[in-house]
Amino acid sequence: MTDLQTVLLVTVIAGSATGLGALPLFFRKRFSHRTYDSALGLAAGIMIAASVFGLILPGLEDGTLREVIFGVFLGRVALLVGNRLIPHLHTHYLGLFGEGPSRPRTDDETSNLRKAILIGGAITLHNAPEGLAMGVAFASGLEEVAFFLAIIIGIQNVPDGFAFAIPIGETGISNPRVLLYTTLSGLIPQVLAAAFGFGLVSVSVGIFPIAAGFAAGAMIAVVFREMVPMSHGHGYADAATMAFLIGFVILLIVEEVLG
Ligand SMILES: [Zn+2]
Repeated sequence: MTDLQTVLLVTVIAGSATGLGALPLFFRKRFSHRTYDSALGLAAGIMIAASVFGLILPGLEDGTLREVIFGVFLGRVALLVGNRLIPHLHTHYLGLFGEGPSRPRTDDETSNLRKAILIGGAITLHNAPEGLAMGVAFASGLEEVAFFLAIIIGIQNVPDGFAFAIPIGETGISNPRVLLYTTLSGLIPQVLAAAFGFGLVSVSVGIFPIAAGFAAGAMIAVVFREMVPMSHGHGYADAATMAFLIGFVILLIVEEVLG
C-alpha cells in the first residue's frame, strides 16, 4: 500500500495546480466576461468528465450501484450544508482579505470582495470531497485509480483556480496574494481531506465506492448549482457551452491516453 508521505506529496502537487489558474492575472489585469464565462464552462466540462471517468466508473467497478448512488446524494448534502455555513465564515474571510490595497478600498472593490467570497467559498468547498476521494483510493490499494484521479483532479484544478482568482483579483488585492490565496484554496482542503480519507480506510475498508460517489456528487452539484449559472447571463452562453464541451473532450482524451 502507498504510504502517507506519497499520498501527501501527490495531493500537494494536484492541489497546488489550482494556483496555476491565477497566473494569467500576472499578464493581464482585466478579463472579459467572454473569457471568464468560457473558463467556467471549461472547468465545468472537465469536472463532469472527471467525475464520471475518474470516480463513478471506478466506483462501480469496485463496489455496487447502490453504494455509488448513496455517495452521490451524500456529496450533494455535504455541499448544501457547507454552503449554509459560508455566510457565517464571511467575517473570517473579510479579516483574511482585509489587507487589500494600501489605499482605501473603493465601493466597487468592496462589493467585489463580497462577491469574491461567495464565489470563492462555493468553489473551495467542493475541493474537499475531491481530496477525500484521492485519499480513500490510495488507502483502498487502488493505486492506478488514485494516480489517475490525482492527475485529472490536478487538471481540473487549473480552470477552477482561474474562476477563483478573477473575482479575488477584482477586489484590488495584489497579484502575489491572489496567487497565494488561489493556491491555498485548492491545496488546503484537498491535502487535509486526502489525509483524512487515507486515515479513514485503515479503519473501514471498502468505502471507496461511497467516497467516489460522494466526490462525484459534490462536483456535479457545484457545476450545476454554481458554475453553469455563473457562466450565463452575460450573453456568452454559447461560448461557455462550447468551452464546456471542449473541457469534456480534453478529459476524454486524457482518459483514453492514460486509461
Ligand atoms: Zn473542481
